Amino acid sequence: MLETSDMSFESSEERIVSPELTSMEAEGFEYSLRPQSLAEYIGQDKVKENMRIYIQAAKNRGEPLDHVLLYGPPGLGKTTLSAIIAKEMGVNIRITSGPAIEKPGDLAALLTNLNENDVLFIDEIHRMSRAIEEILYPAMEDFALDIIIGKGPSARSLRVDLNKFTLIGATTRSGQLSAPLRDRFGVVQRLELYSFEQLGEIILRSATILGVACDKDGAAEIAKRSRGTPRIANRLLKRVRDFAEVIGDGKITGDIASIALDRMEIDSLGLDSLDKRMLEMMIKGYSGGPVGLETLAAAIGEESVTLEDVCEPYLMQLGFISRTPRGRCATALAYEHMGYPLPEKIAKSADDLKQQSLFEQN
Ligand code: ADP
Repeated sequence: MLETSDMSFESSEERIVSPELTSMEAEGFEYSLRPQSLAEYIGQDKVKENMRIYIQAAKNRGEPLDHVLLYGPPGLGKTTLSAIIAKEMGVNIRITSGPAIEKPGDLAALLTNLNENDVLFIDEIHRMSRAIEEILYPAMEDFALDIIIGKGPSARSLRVDLNKFTLIGATTRSGQLSAPLRDRFGVVQRLELYSFEQLGEIILRSATILGVACDKDGAAEIAKRSRGTPRIANRLLKRVRDFAEVIGDGKITGDIASIALDRMEIDSLGLDSLDKRMLEMMIKGYSGGPVGLETLAAAIGEESVTLEDVCEPYLMQLGFISRTPRGRCATALAYEHMGYPLPEKIAKSADDLKQQSLFEQN
C-alpha cells in the first residue's frame, strides 16, 4: 500500500520542462502512470539488476533490505523505484521528505509506526536538520530510538526498540549529505538521465495507459525534448495529447508533436528559456567561460541550486557544457545549437579533440 499522507513537495516554478513535481502531480494525478514492478520500470538497468539481487537475498534471509540511498536529478524515478522496492519486498511504504520532518518527535512517530521490515522513504534527505539526523543514526544501525527524559542533571536516556525497517533516502545532491549519514546506507545507487529510446518506450507505455493513440514518431519527438527525464516526458505527452485532440484527429504523430512542442516553446532538444539564458550568458557574457556557477546564477538572476540540479545535468549530457576546476565552459556544440559563431579558442580545442580521437582510432 502506498501511503501519501506525509508527502510534502514543493513546486518552486511552473516551467513545463521543470523536472519538479507540479501541484497537480503531487496531488496524485501522476500515480496511474507509475510503473508497479521492476519489470515495468524502464531503463536504469544496472540499478534494477542490483536491486533485484539485494531484494531476493533479503527475502531469502527473511530480513529487511539494507538501507538504500538513491541519488540523481529530480523526476528520474526515485520515488517510483522506492515504492516498487517495497512492493517487491511485500511490505508497506511510508513516504515523507526531509523538510517535512520538523521536530525530532515527527521522526520518532514515523519510526515507531513502522511494521516489521517496512520501508520508510525520505525524499530530499539532504534537507533534514542535524538534530533529526542524529535520531536516525541509532534507528538505522540498531533499530532503536534514544529518548531523553527530563532536563539538566536529572536527564535520563531511555532506549526504545523499533521494528526492523529499511530506510530509502532520495537526494538530488549526495554531496550535501553528511558523511556519517551517507556511511549508514548499505546500498547507494545513482540514477542516470534516460536515453531518447528509453523515454520513447516510457511515452508509449504512458500513452497506452492514458488511452491515447501515439505512433513511434510522435513518441520519439516528445522523447527528444524531455531532457532525459520521465516526469517531463509524461507531462509533455499530456499537453501534446491536448493539441492532438483539438487540432488533429486525436492521434499523436511526429508532426502533431512537433507543432505542439514548438507552440509550447520547447526547442528541438528540450531546452527552455532558462537553459538558453544560461548558455547565452556563458557565451556572450563570459566568452564561453570558464565561469563559476555562483557568478553565472547571479548574472541571470536565478538560484545556483536550480542551475546545478536542473540545467546542468542535461546540458552536460548533451555535451553543451563542460566542468573544469576553474568553472563551467560552453562547448562548440552549444555555440552551434545557439547559433553563435565559434570563437577561435573553442574552435581550436574542438579541432584538437577531433584530431585526438582520430589519432586514438588509428
Ligand atoms: P523522483 O522521485 O526521482 O523525482 P518519480 O519517481 O516521482 O521521480 O518519477 C516521476 C514520474 O516519472 C513517475 O510518475 C513515473 O510515472 C515516471 N517514471 C519514472 N521512472 C520511470 C521508469 N523507469 N519507467 C516508467 N516511468 C517512470
